[in-house]
Order: sequence, then structure tokens, then C-alpha cells
Amino acid sequence: MSSDFSNLAVMKTLIIVDVQNDFLEGGALAVPDGNAIIPVVNQIQKDYDLVIATQDWHPFHHKSFAREHNGKREFETIELNGLPQVLWPAHCVQGTFGAEFHPDLEMNKVEAIFRKGMDREIDSYSGFYDNGKLKDTGLLGYLKGRNVKEISVCGLAADYCVFYTAMDALASGFQTEIILEAVRPINRNNWTALQNEFRSLGGRLS
Ligand SMILES: [Zn+2]
Repeated sequence: MSSDFSNLAVMKTLIIVDVQNDFLEGGALAVPDGNAIIPVVNQIQKDYDLVIATQDWHPFHHKSFAREHNGKREFETIELNGLPQVLWPAHCVQGTFGAEFHPDLEMNKVEAIFRKGMDREIDSYSGFYDNGKLKDTGLLGYLKGRNVKEISVCGLAADYCVFYTAMDALASGFQTEIILEAVRPINRNNWTALQNEFRSLGGRLS
């Protein structure tokens, strides 16, 4: 049997961020037009040597949920353990339908799934670290172990988990791209500003 190590040198990698029922039509925190990305995400997977996914995976009483804070409303920003925290509708609770990947998302090529948001005291937008960078999910070590150099990011929501995942990839030295056709934001205005920030730091938007 001959070996072909050519892929090891390239390892073009796709990170699919949080394509879960709660972020899609009918979900607890549905991203506008989010379902439109699913066929795109399925179609582009063939262009990558390595495909991985992240999964928001909160305990029932996660403190990013507005219901955990008396008198606070959804989408209000508070301070939580020293960090600004948007209060979300309860979403992606471990073991629920909302936390599952959308049934139309192609998962056969996904080699690894990195779960995040499991510590109830701190939110985790990036697939690499929680929002305080206190804990590492293991994603960075995994990518380095696979000799990854280039990363493309797609998924939901563009202005939160996609953006922070892409920013951490960039800061970790990967050539990083966000695939615009395969992301959707919660807030369009925020997303425009964040795209500029990402580009100014060397990120590519395609
Ligand atoms: Zn979450």
C-alpha cells in the first residue's frame, strides 16, 4: 500500500460553527435567514481536507440565559464575572433538540466536534476558548496536531460565534477566511463593523 502524505502539507480546513436547531428557523435563538446557509455548507465541504464542527452545549442553568437573572431582559447586556454578557433566550441546552445539529446538515465528513459553553459561569463564543480565555477547548492543539495552516469558517451566528472563532484562528497564526455566503448575522450593522475589524487584522472575507 502506498502512502500519500500530500494532504498533510496542506490540510485546508473548514470549521462549521454551531449549525444547531436553536439557531435556525423555529429555534429559540433563530438567526435571520440562517437556514439559507445549510445547502452552501453542505456543498463546500468537498473542497476541504479536514472538516470539523463546533456545538454550543449549555447546562440548563447557564448564566448567559436571561431567565437566570431576575428583572433582566433578553438581549440586554450585563456584567458577568467581569465580562460584558449579552443575555440570550435559553438555547442549545445539553441533550435537547435545540442543541442538535440541523437534520439537513451533512455530518459524514465532520471528523471532530468541539463543544463549548459548558461552564455555567462563562459564555463561549469562540470554538477555541471561553470569552475570558480561561479555558481552552482543545481545538488549537487539535489543529496544530493535524498540521493545519489554512482555515475557513462558516456557520452561525456571523457576528458572534463565527467572528470570535475566526478572530482566534487568525490570532493563532492560521490563514483565516470567513465564507460570507455561508454565514448569517443576528445584527447586520454589528456584522458590517466586525467584518472591517477582521479584514484589518489580515482576515479574508470571500
Ligand atoms: Zn450559547
